Amino acid sequence: YFLIVGGGITGVACARDAVLRGFSAACVEKNDFAYGTSSRSSKLIHGGLRYLEQANFKLVFEGTHERAQLRKVAPHLVKPIPFMFPVFKEAKHGMATISFGLWLYDTLAGKHRYGRHRRYKRDEIMSLEPGLRSEGLSGGAVYYDCMTDDARLCLENAVSAHESGAVMLNYTRFLHSVKDPDGRAIGATVRDENSGREFKVNCKVLIYCAGPWTDQVLSAGQEKQKSMIRTTKGVHLLFAADRLPVNHAVVMNSVTDGRVVFAIPRGRVTLVGTTDTDYNGDPDGVHATSEDVDYLMETLEHYFPGLNLTREDIRASYAGLRPLVRDDSDSPYDVSREHTVSIGEDSSVTIGGGKYTTYRLMADDILSEAMKVMGLRRAERVKCATRDVLLVGAEDLAPQQREELLKELYAKMDEDIADYLLNAYGGRAGRVAGGDLSRLVSGFPFVYSEVEYGIQNESAVTPADVLIRRIPVFYEAPDQGLECLDKVVDHMAASLGWTLDQKEKHTEDYRALVESSRRWRNP
Ligand SMILES: Cc1cc2nc3c(=O)[nH]c(=O)nc-3n(C[C@H](O)[C@H](O)[C@H](O)COP(=O)(O)OP(=O)(O)OC[C@H]3O[C@@H](n4cnc5c(N)ncnc54)[C@H](O)[C@@H]3O)c2cc1C
Repeated sequence: YFLIVGGGITGVACARDAVLRGFSAACVEKNDFAYGTSSRSSKLIHGGLRYLEQANFKLVFEGTHERAQLRKVAPHLVKPIPFMFPVFKEAKHGMATISFGLWLYDTLAGKHRYGRHRRYKRDEIMSLEPGLRSEGLSGGAVYYDCMTDDARLCLENAVSAHESGAVMLNYTRFLHSVKDPDGRAIGATVRDENSGREFKVNCKVLIYCAGPWTDQVLSAGQEKQKSMIRTTKGVHLLFAADRLPVNHAVVMNSVTDGRVVFAIPRGRVTLVGTTDTDYNGDPDGVHATSEDVDYLMETLEHYFPGLNLTREDIRASYAGLRPLVRDDSDSPYDVSREHTVSIGEDSSVTIGGGKYTTYRLMADDILSEAMKVMGLRRAERVKCATRDVLLVGAEDLAPQQREELLKELYAKMDEDIADYLLNAYGGRAGRVAGGDLSRLVSGFPFVYSEVEYGIQNESAVTPADVLIRRIPVFYEAPDQGLECLDKVVDHMAASLGWTLDQKEKHTEDYRALVESSRRWRNP
């Protein structure tokens, strides 16, 4: 029935939703699942406190309710985290405004909140976050939201879709649509990026979920379309947790323009972001620039002056593109984050905008439109099932099962590895742990067994698939995985039958990605 272009969170969730409703679906992704924005977000599953400033209560309501929904279907990947809002004397919003905003945020979340927000005095804030600037601090508040591993959540949706019957093809590029004599899209020509082979896929409805590439795919092989998407770049920096220790996700206001910037604790690292600037270049070439890094560093230095952070402390950086629907806002920051589903003249369905948090609703809206295109009457339209069906890692994860699994893992391996595997793979951690449990990087819980698991069960075919999107080595390891690269390539070569030339090419490709993420160092 459906051919979906794009294997980011929107596309894979759409494929999963379709097959759970009983339709057949295929999803083609030109690179790896989660290669685009869906592995480069702030990794928050949130209502979005800042949208209250824009009086966008609908978006906050949807976000907080989806947060609860995702926590239910993927509790191992969606976890509550406390946020701290320090308030300074010179700040745009005083304590009264912040308190009112947080009260409203809690109220909109209703029973789906993870704790009521609380106000703290200056000294209490300093003991909760000792690294913070004390000068000018007047108090603050703590509230709750959730965080995730965006690449893993996307992969779990892809695996769940596949196991429910969808055809999920990474490294398969959509080239152009195929139309019937009435001009209706009834399929597409796609290319296997590994073999170069082209083939046709038929469908009843062609669905575009191409995120920042939407304008590109819409114009592929067709007349020039009016641009639908405004792509804005967001950069993140990662620091070792002991260089930037925070106990909460600290909410900062950029010293340059007042935008919200977070410092988010993620275990071994602290994630800082993000920027928001218009981007008109090639979406595949997006990277952090020296100006992006300055923007974030200046705010960090202001909020954490005692830590004496320098650019040398930056362990990794990444840049992603927001696929926002064009409106008449001047500033990228003000463009709406809501999504829009439209039906083209050729009856294809396209989604633009949206947030990671609302991916399930976006998929539901896409399929509602797709069923209309198919001509199904209201009574014939099948209802969405993704509210309740668990993602694969959440199966076998009831409290008792979780306890037993953890005991089994602890008996086999170091505790840090067991905890990490359980958090990343949920109920499937036992299967992942079936192979070589030696560490990829000394001092980190990532293990070789995950490489083989990624190849066999999660369609990994390049070192970047493994070291960036299956295992967060690229973001967390001090050398971004360069030290273990040769061994990983050897392992993959043995599994996938690579020639010497292929091994060399894959090694070079990964090195180039690391280089690209460090380009800001040599402007
Ligand atoms: C910096 C930043 C921070 C963010 N933080 C958050 C956050 O904390 N919380 C939140 O809720 N949201 C956040 N978002 C928004 C969220 O990440 C995105 O809305 C979401 O990931 C978009 O997913 P997508 O599937 O639509 O796009 P993508 O993930 O970009 O997927 C599109 C896919 O289409 C593929 N594609 C393109 N052309 C073709 C072709 N010809 N053939 C086949 N495939 C093709 C691409 O390779 C890509 O993988 C953030 C966004 C950014 C940029």
